[in-house]
Amino acid sequence: MSTATAKKRQSGRVVRPLKIRKGDLVEVIAGKDRGKRGKVIHTFPRENRVLVDGINIVVRHQKPRSVSRATPQTQTGRVEKPAPLHISKVMLVCPRCNQRTRIAVSLTQDGKRVRTCKKCKEYIDSV
Ligand SMILES: [Zn+2]
Repeated sequence: MSTATAKKRQSGRVVRPLKIRKGDLVEVIAGKDRGKRGKVIHTFPRENRVLVDGINIVVRHQKPRSVSRATPQTQTGRVEKPAPLHISKVMLVCPRCNQRTRIAVSLTQDGKRVRTCKKCKEYIDSV
């Protein structure tokens, strides 16, 4: 167990589920990738961060030294990969009206929690 995890436990902070989920289409509203859209490939509820496909690409310059026989390095040179973005930097794109929107959570008649687009009032999740 890492010390960082233990610290968060002690503070008693409640980790809420994110309003953005894996598979959602989001639009970046801040930073160098502003205006770009991409699919969420991973969420980090504790950090309030999401990993978006093709967004916030960082370039690692992997050097070919330290190649060991046990872990053969497949990628050398420029390795590009996305870095997690803070949730406040992205907005969900509504699959119904195709606009970036805020989300309301509402209950269906049979008590299921579904996310609703605040612009077109349609359900974002399938019921
Ligand atoms: Zn909508």
